[in-house]
Amino acid sequence: MNAKSTILISAVVLSFSVHGGERDIQHNYPLEKLSANVYVIHGPNEEVTEQNQGFRNNPVVITTEKGAIIVDPGSSVYTGEMVVRKLKEVSEKPVIAVINSHGHGDHWLGNHGVKKHFPDVSIYSHPLMKKSIETNGGEMWIKAINQRSNNAIEGTQVVAPNKTVNEGDEMDFGNITLRVYYKGKAHSDGDIMLEVVQEKVFLFGDVLRVENISPFMASLNGNLAALDIGEKTGANIFVPGHGKSGDKRLINTYRKFLQSLKAEVKNNFESGLNDFEMKPKIIKAMNGYKDWSGLDENIGRLINLVYLEVEEESF
Ligand SMILES: [Zn+2]
Repeated sequence: MNAKSTILISAVVLSFSVHGGERDIQHNYPLEKLSANVYVIHGPNEEVTEQNQGFRNNPVVITTEKGAIIVDPGSSVYTGEMVVRKLKEVSEKPVIAVINSHGHGDHWLGNHGVKKHFPDVSIYSHPLMKKSIETNGGEMWIKAINQRSNNAIEGTQVVAPNKTVNEGDEMDFGNITLRVYYKGKAHSDGDIMLEVVQEKVFLFGDVLRVENISPFMASLNGNLAALDIGEKTGANIFVPGHGKSGDKRLINTYRKFLQSLKAEVKNNFESGLNDFEMKPKIIKAMNGYKDWSGLDENIGRLINLVYLEVEEESF
């Protein structure tokens, strides 16, 4: 089965109805086992649409002696509640921690759904992510996803992280240790990556994407460096922020995409073209990636960002 037919089937199991003016949205995607204690829900690998109701990331569940952990519970109160529901299929323990990989709303707005069931849950992120939500209020993410999904996440509230973790921290959950990596700007300003040490699983957040192109990039060089860090941990299962989990080949493929994009921008920059002038040429040159989600919509913004970085390097 190819990726596209999987998405179609997943969308069918999604139910949606309106009760007395309140939205009752039940996402229902399977929880897949990756290792003894790590599970993932692979969300639709596509942009936000009315049909996917804003759900498009990969929430992760980790079961430990001390309780359950959820990483990136999705884009709404509804996806957060789905993750809690699915978690109950594999563990009766309460959720003791939520960890947010970075500040983009499709990953953390689901905090609300977890908090509804576990009001005392600790929610962790990098300090820069926590600060950005405290500064901009996070409401912009609710607005942006509602606009693209016909208000599918209405009812979702901002629930910001209340604790922080940083490079080198180890979170001890008894049988499970989570090692935290932060290597500066990569996909965003405040990406953390997590190694599930005992199970050789590495959670990249959006530093790794599979057949999916984001409009966001804080630093292409930083993103490449962060990919190397994850690869060197000795983990053998890698979970991307979007797209199916897998082995090292995922890292190689995404690295190659980033390197090709940089090379294209650099060549055109050296021929004296502006970022908007090079866009059609680069789309043509990157034709091998035309089936990746978001290429047409997002490549222009990525070119802008990489252009600035290439320009800076040339001084
Ligand atoms: Zn994302």
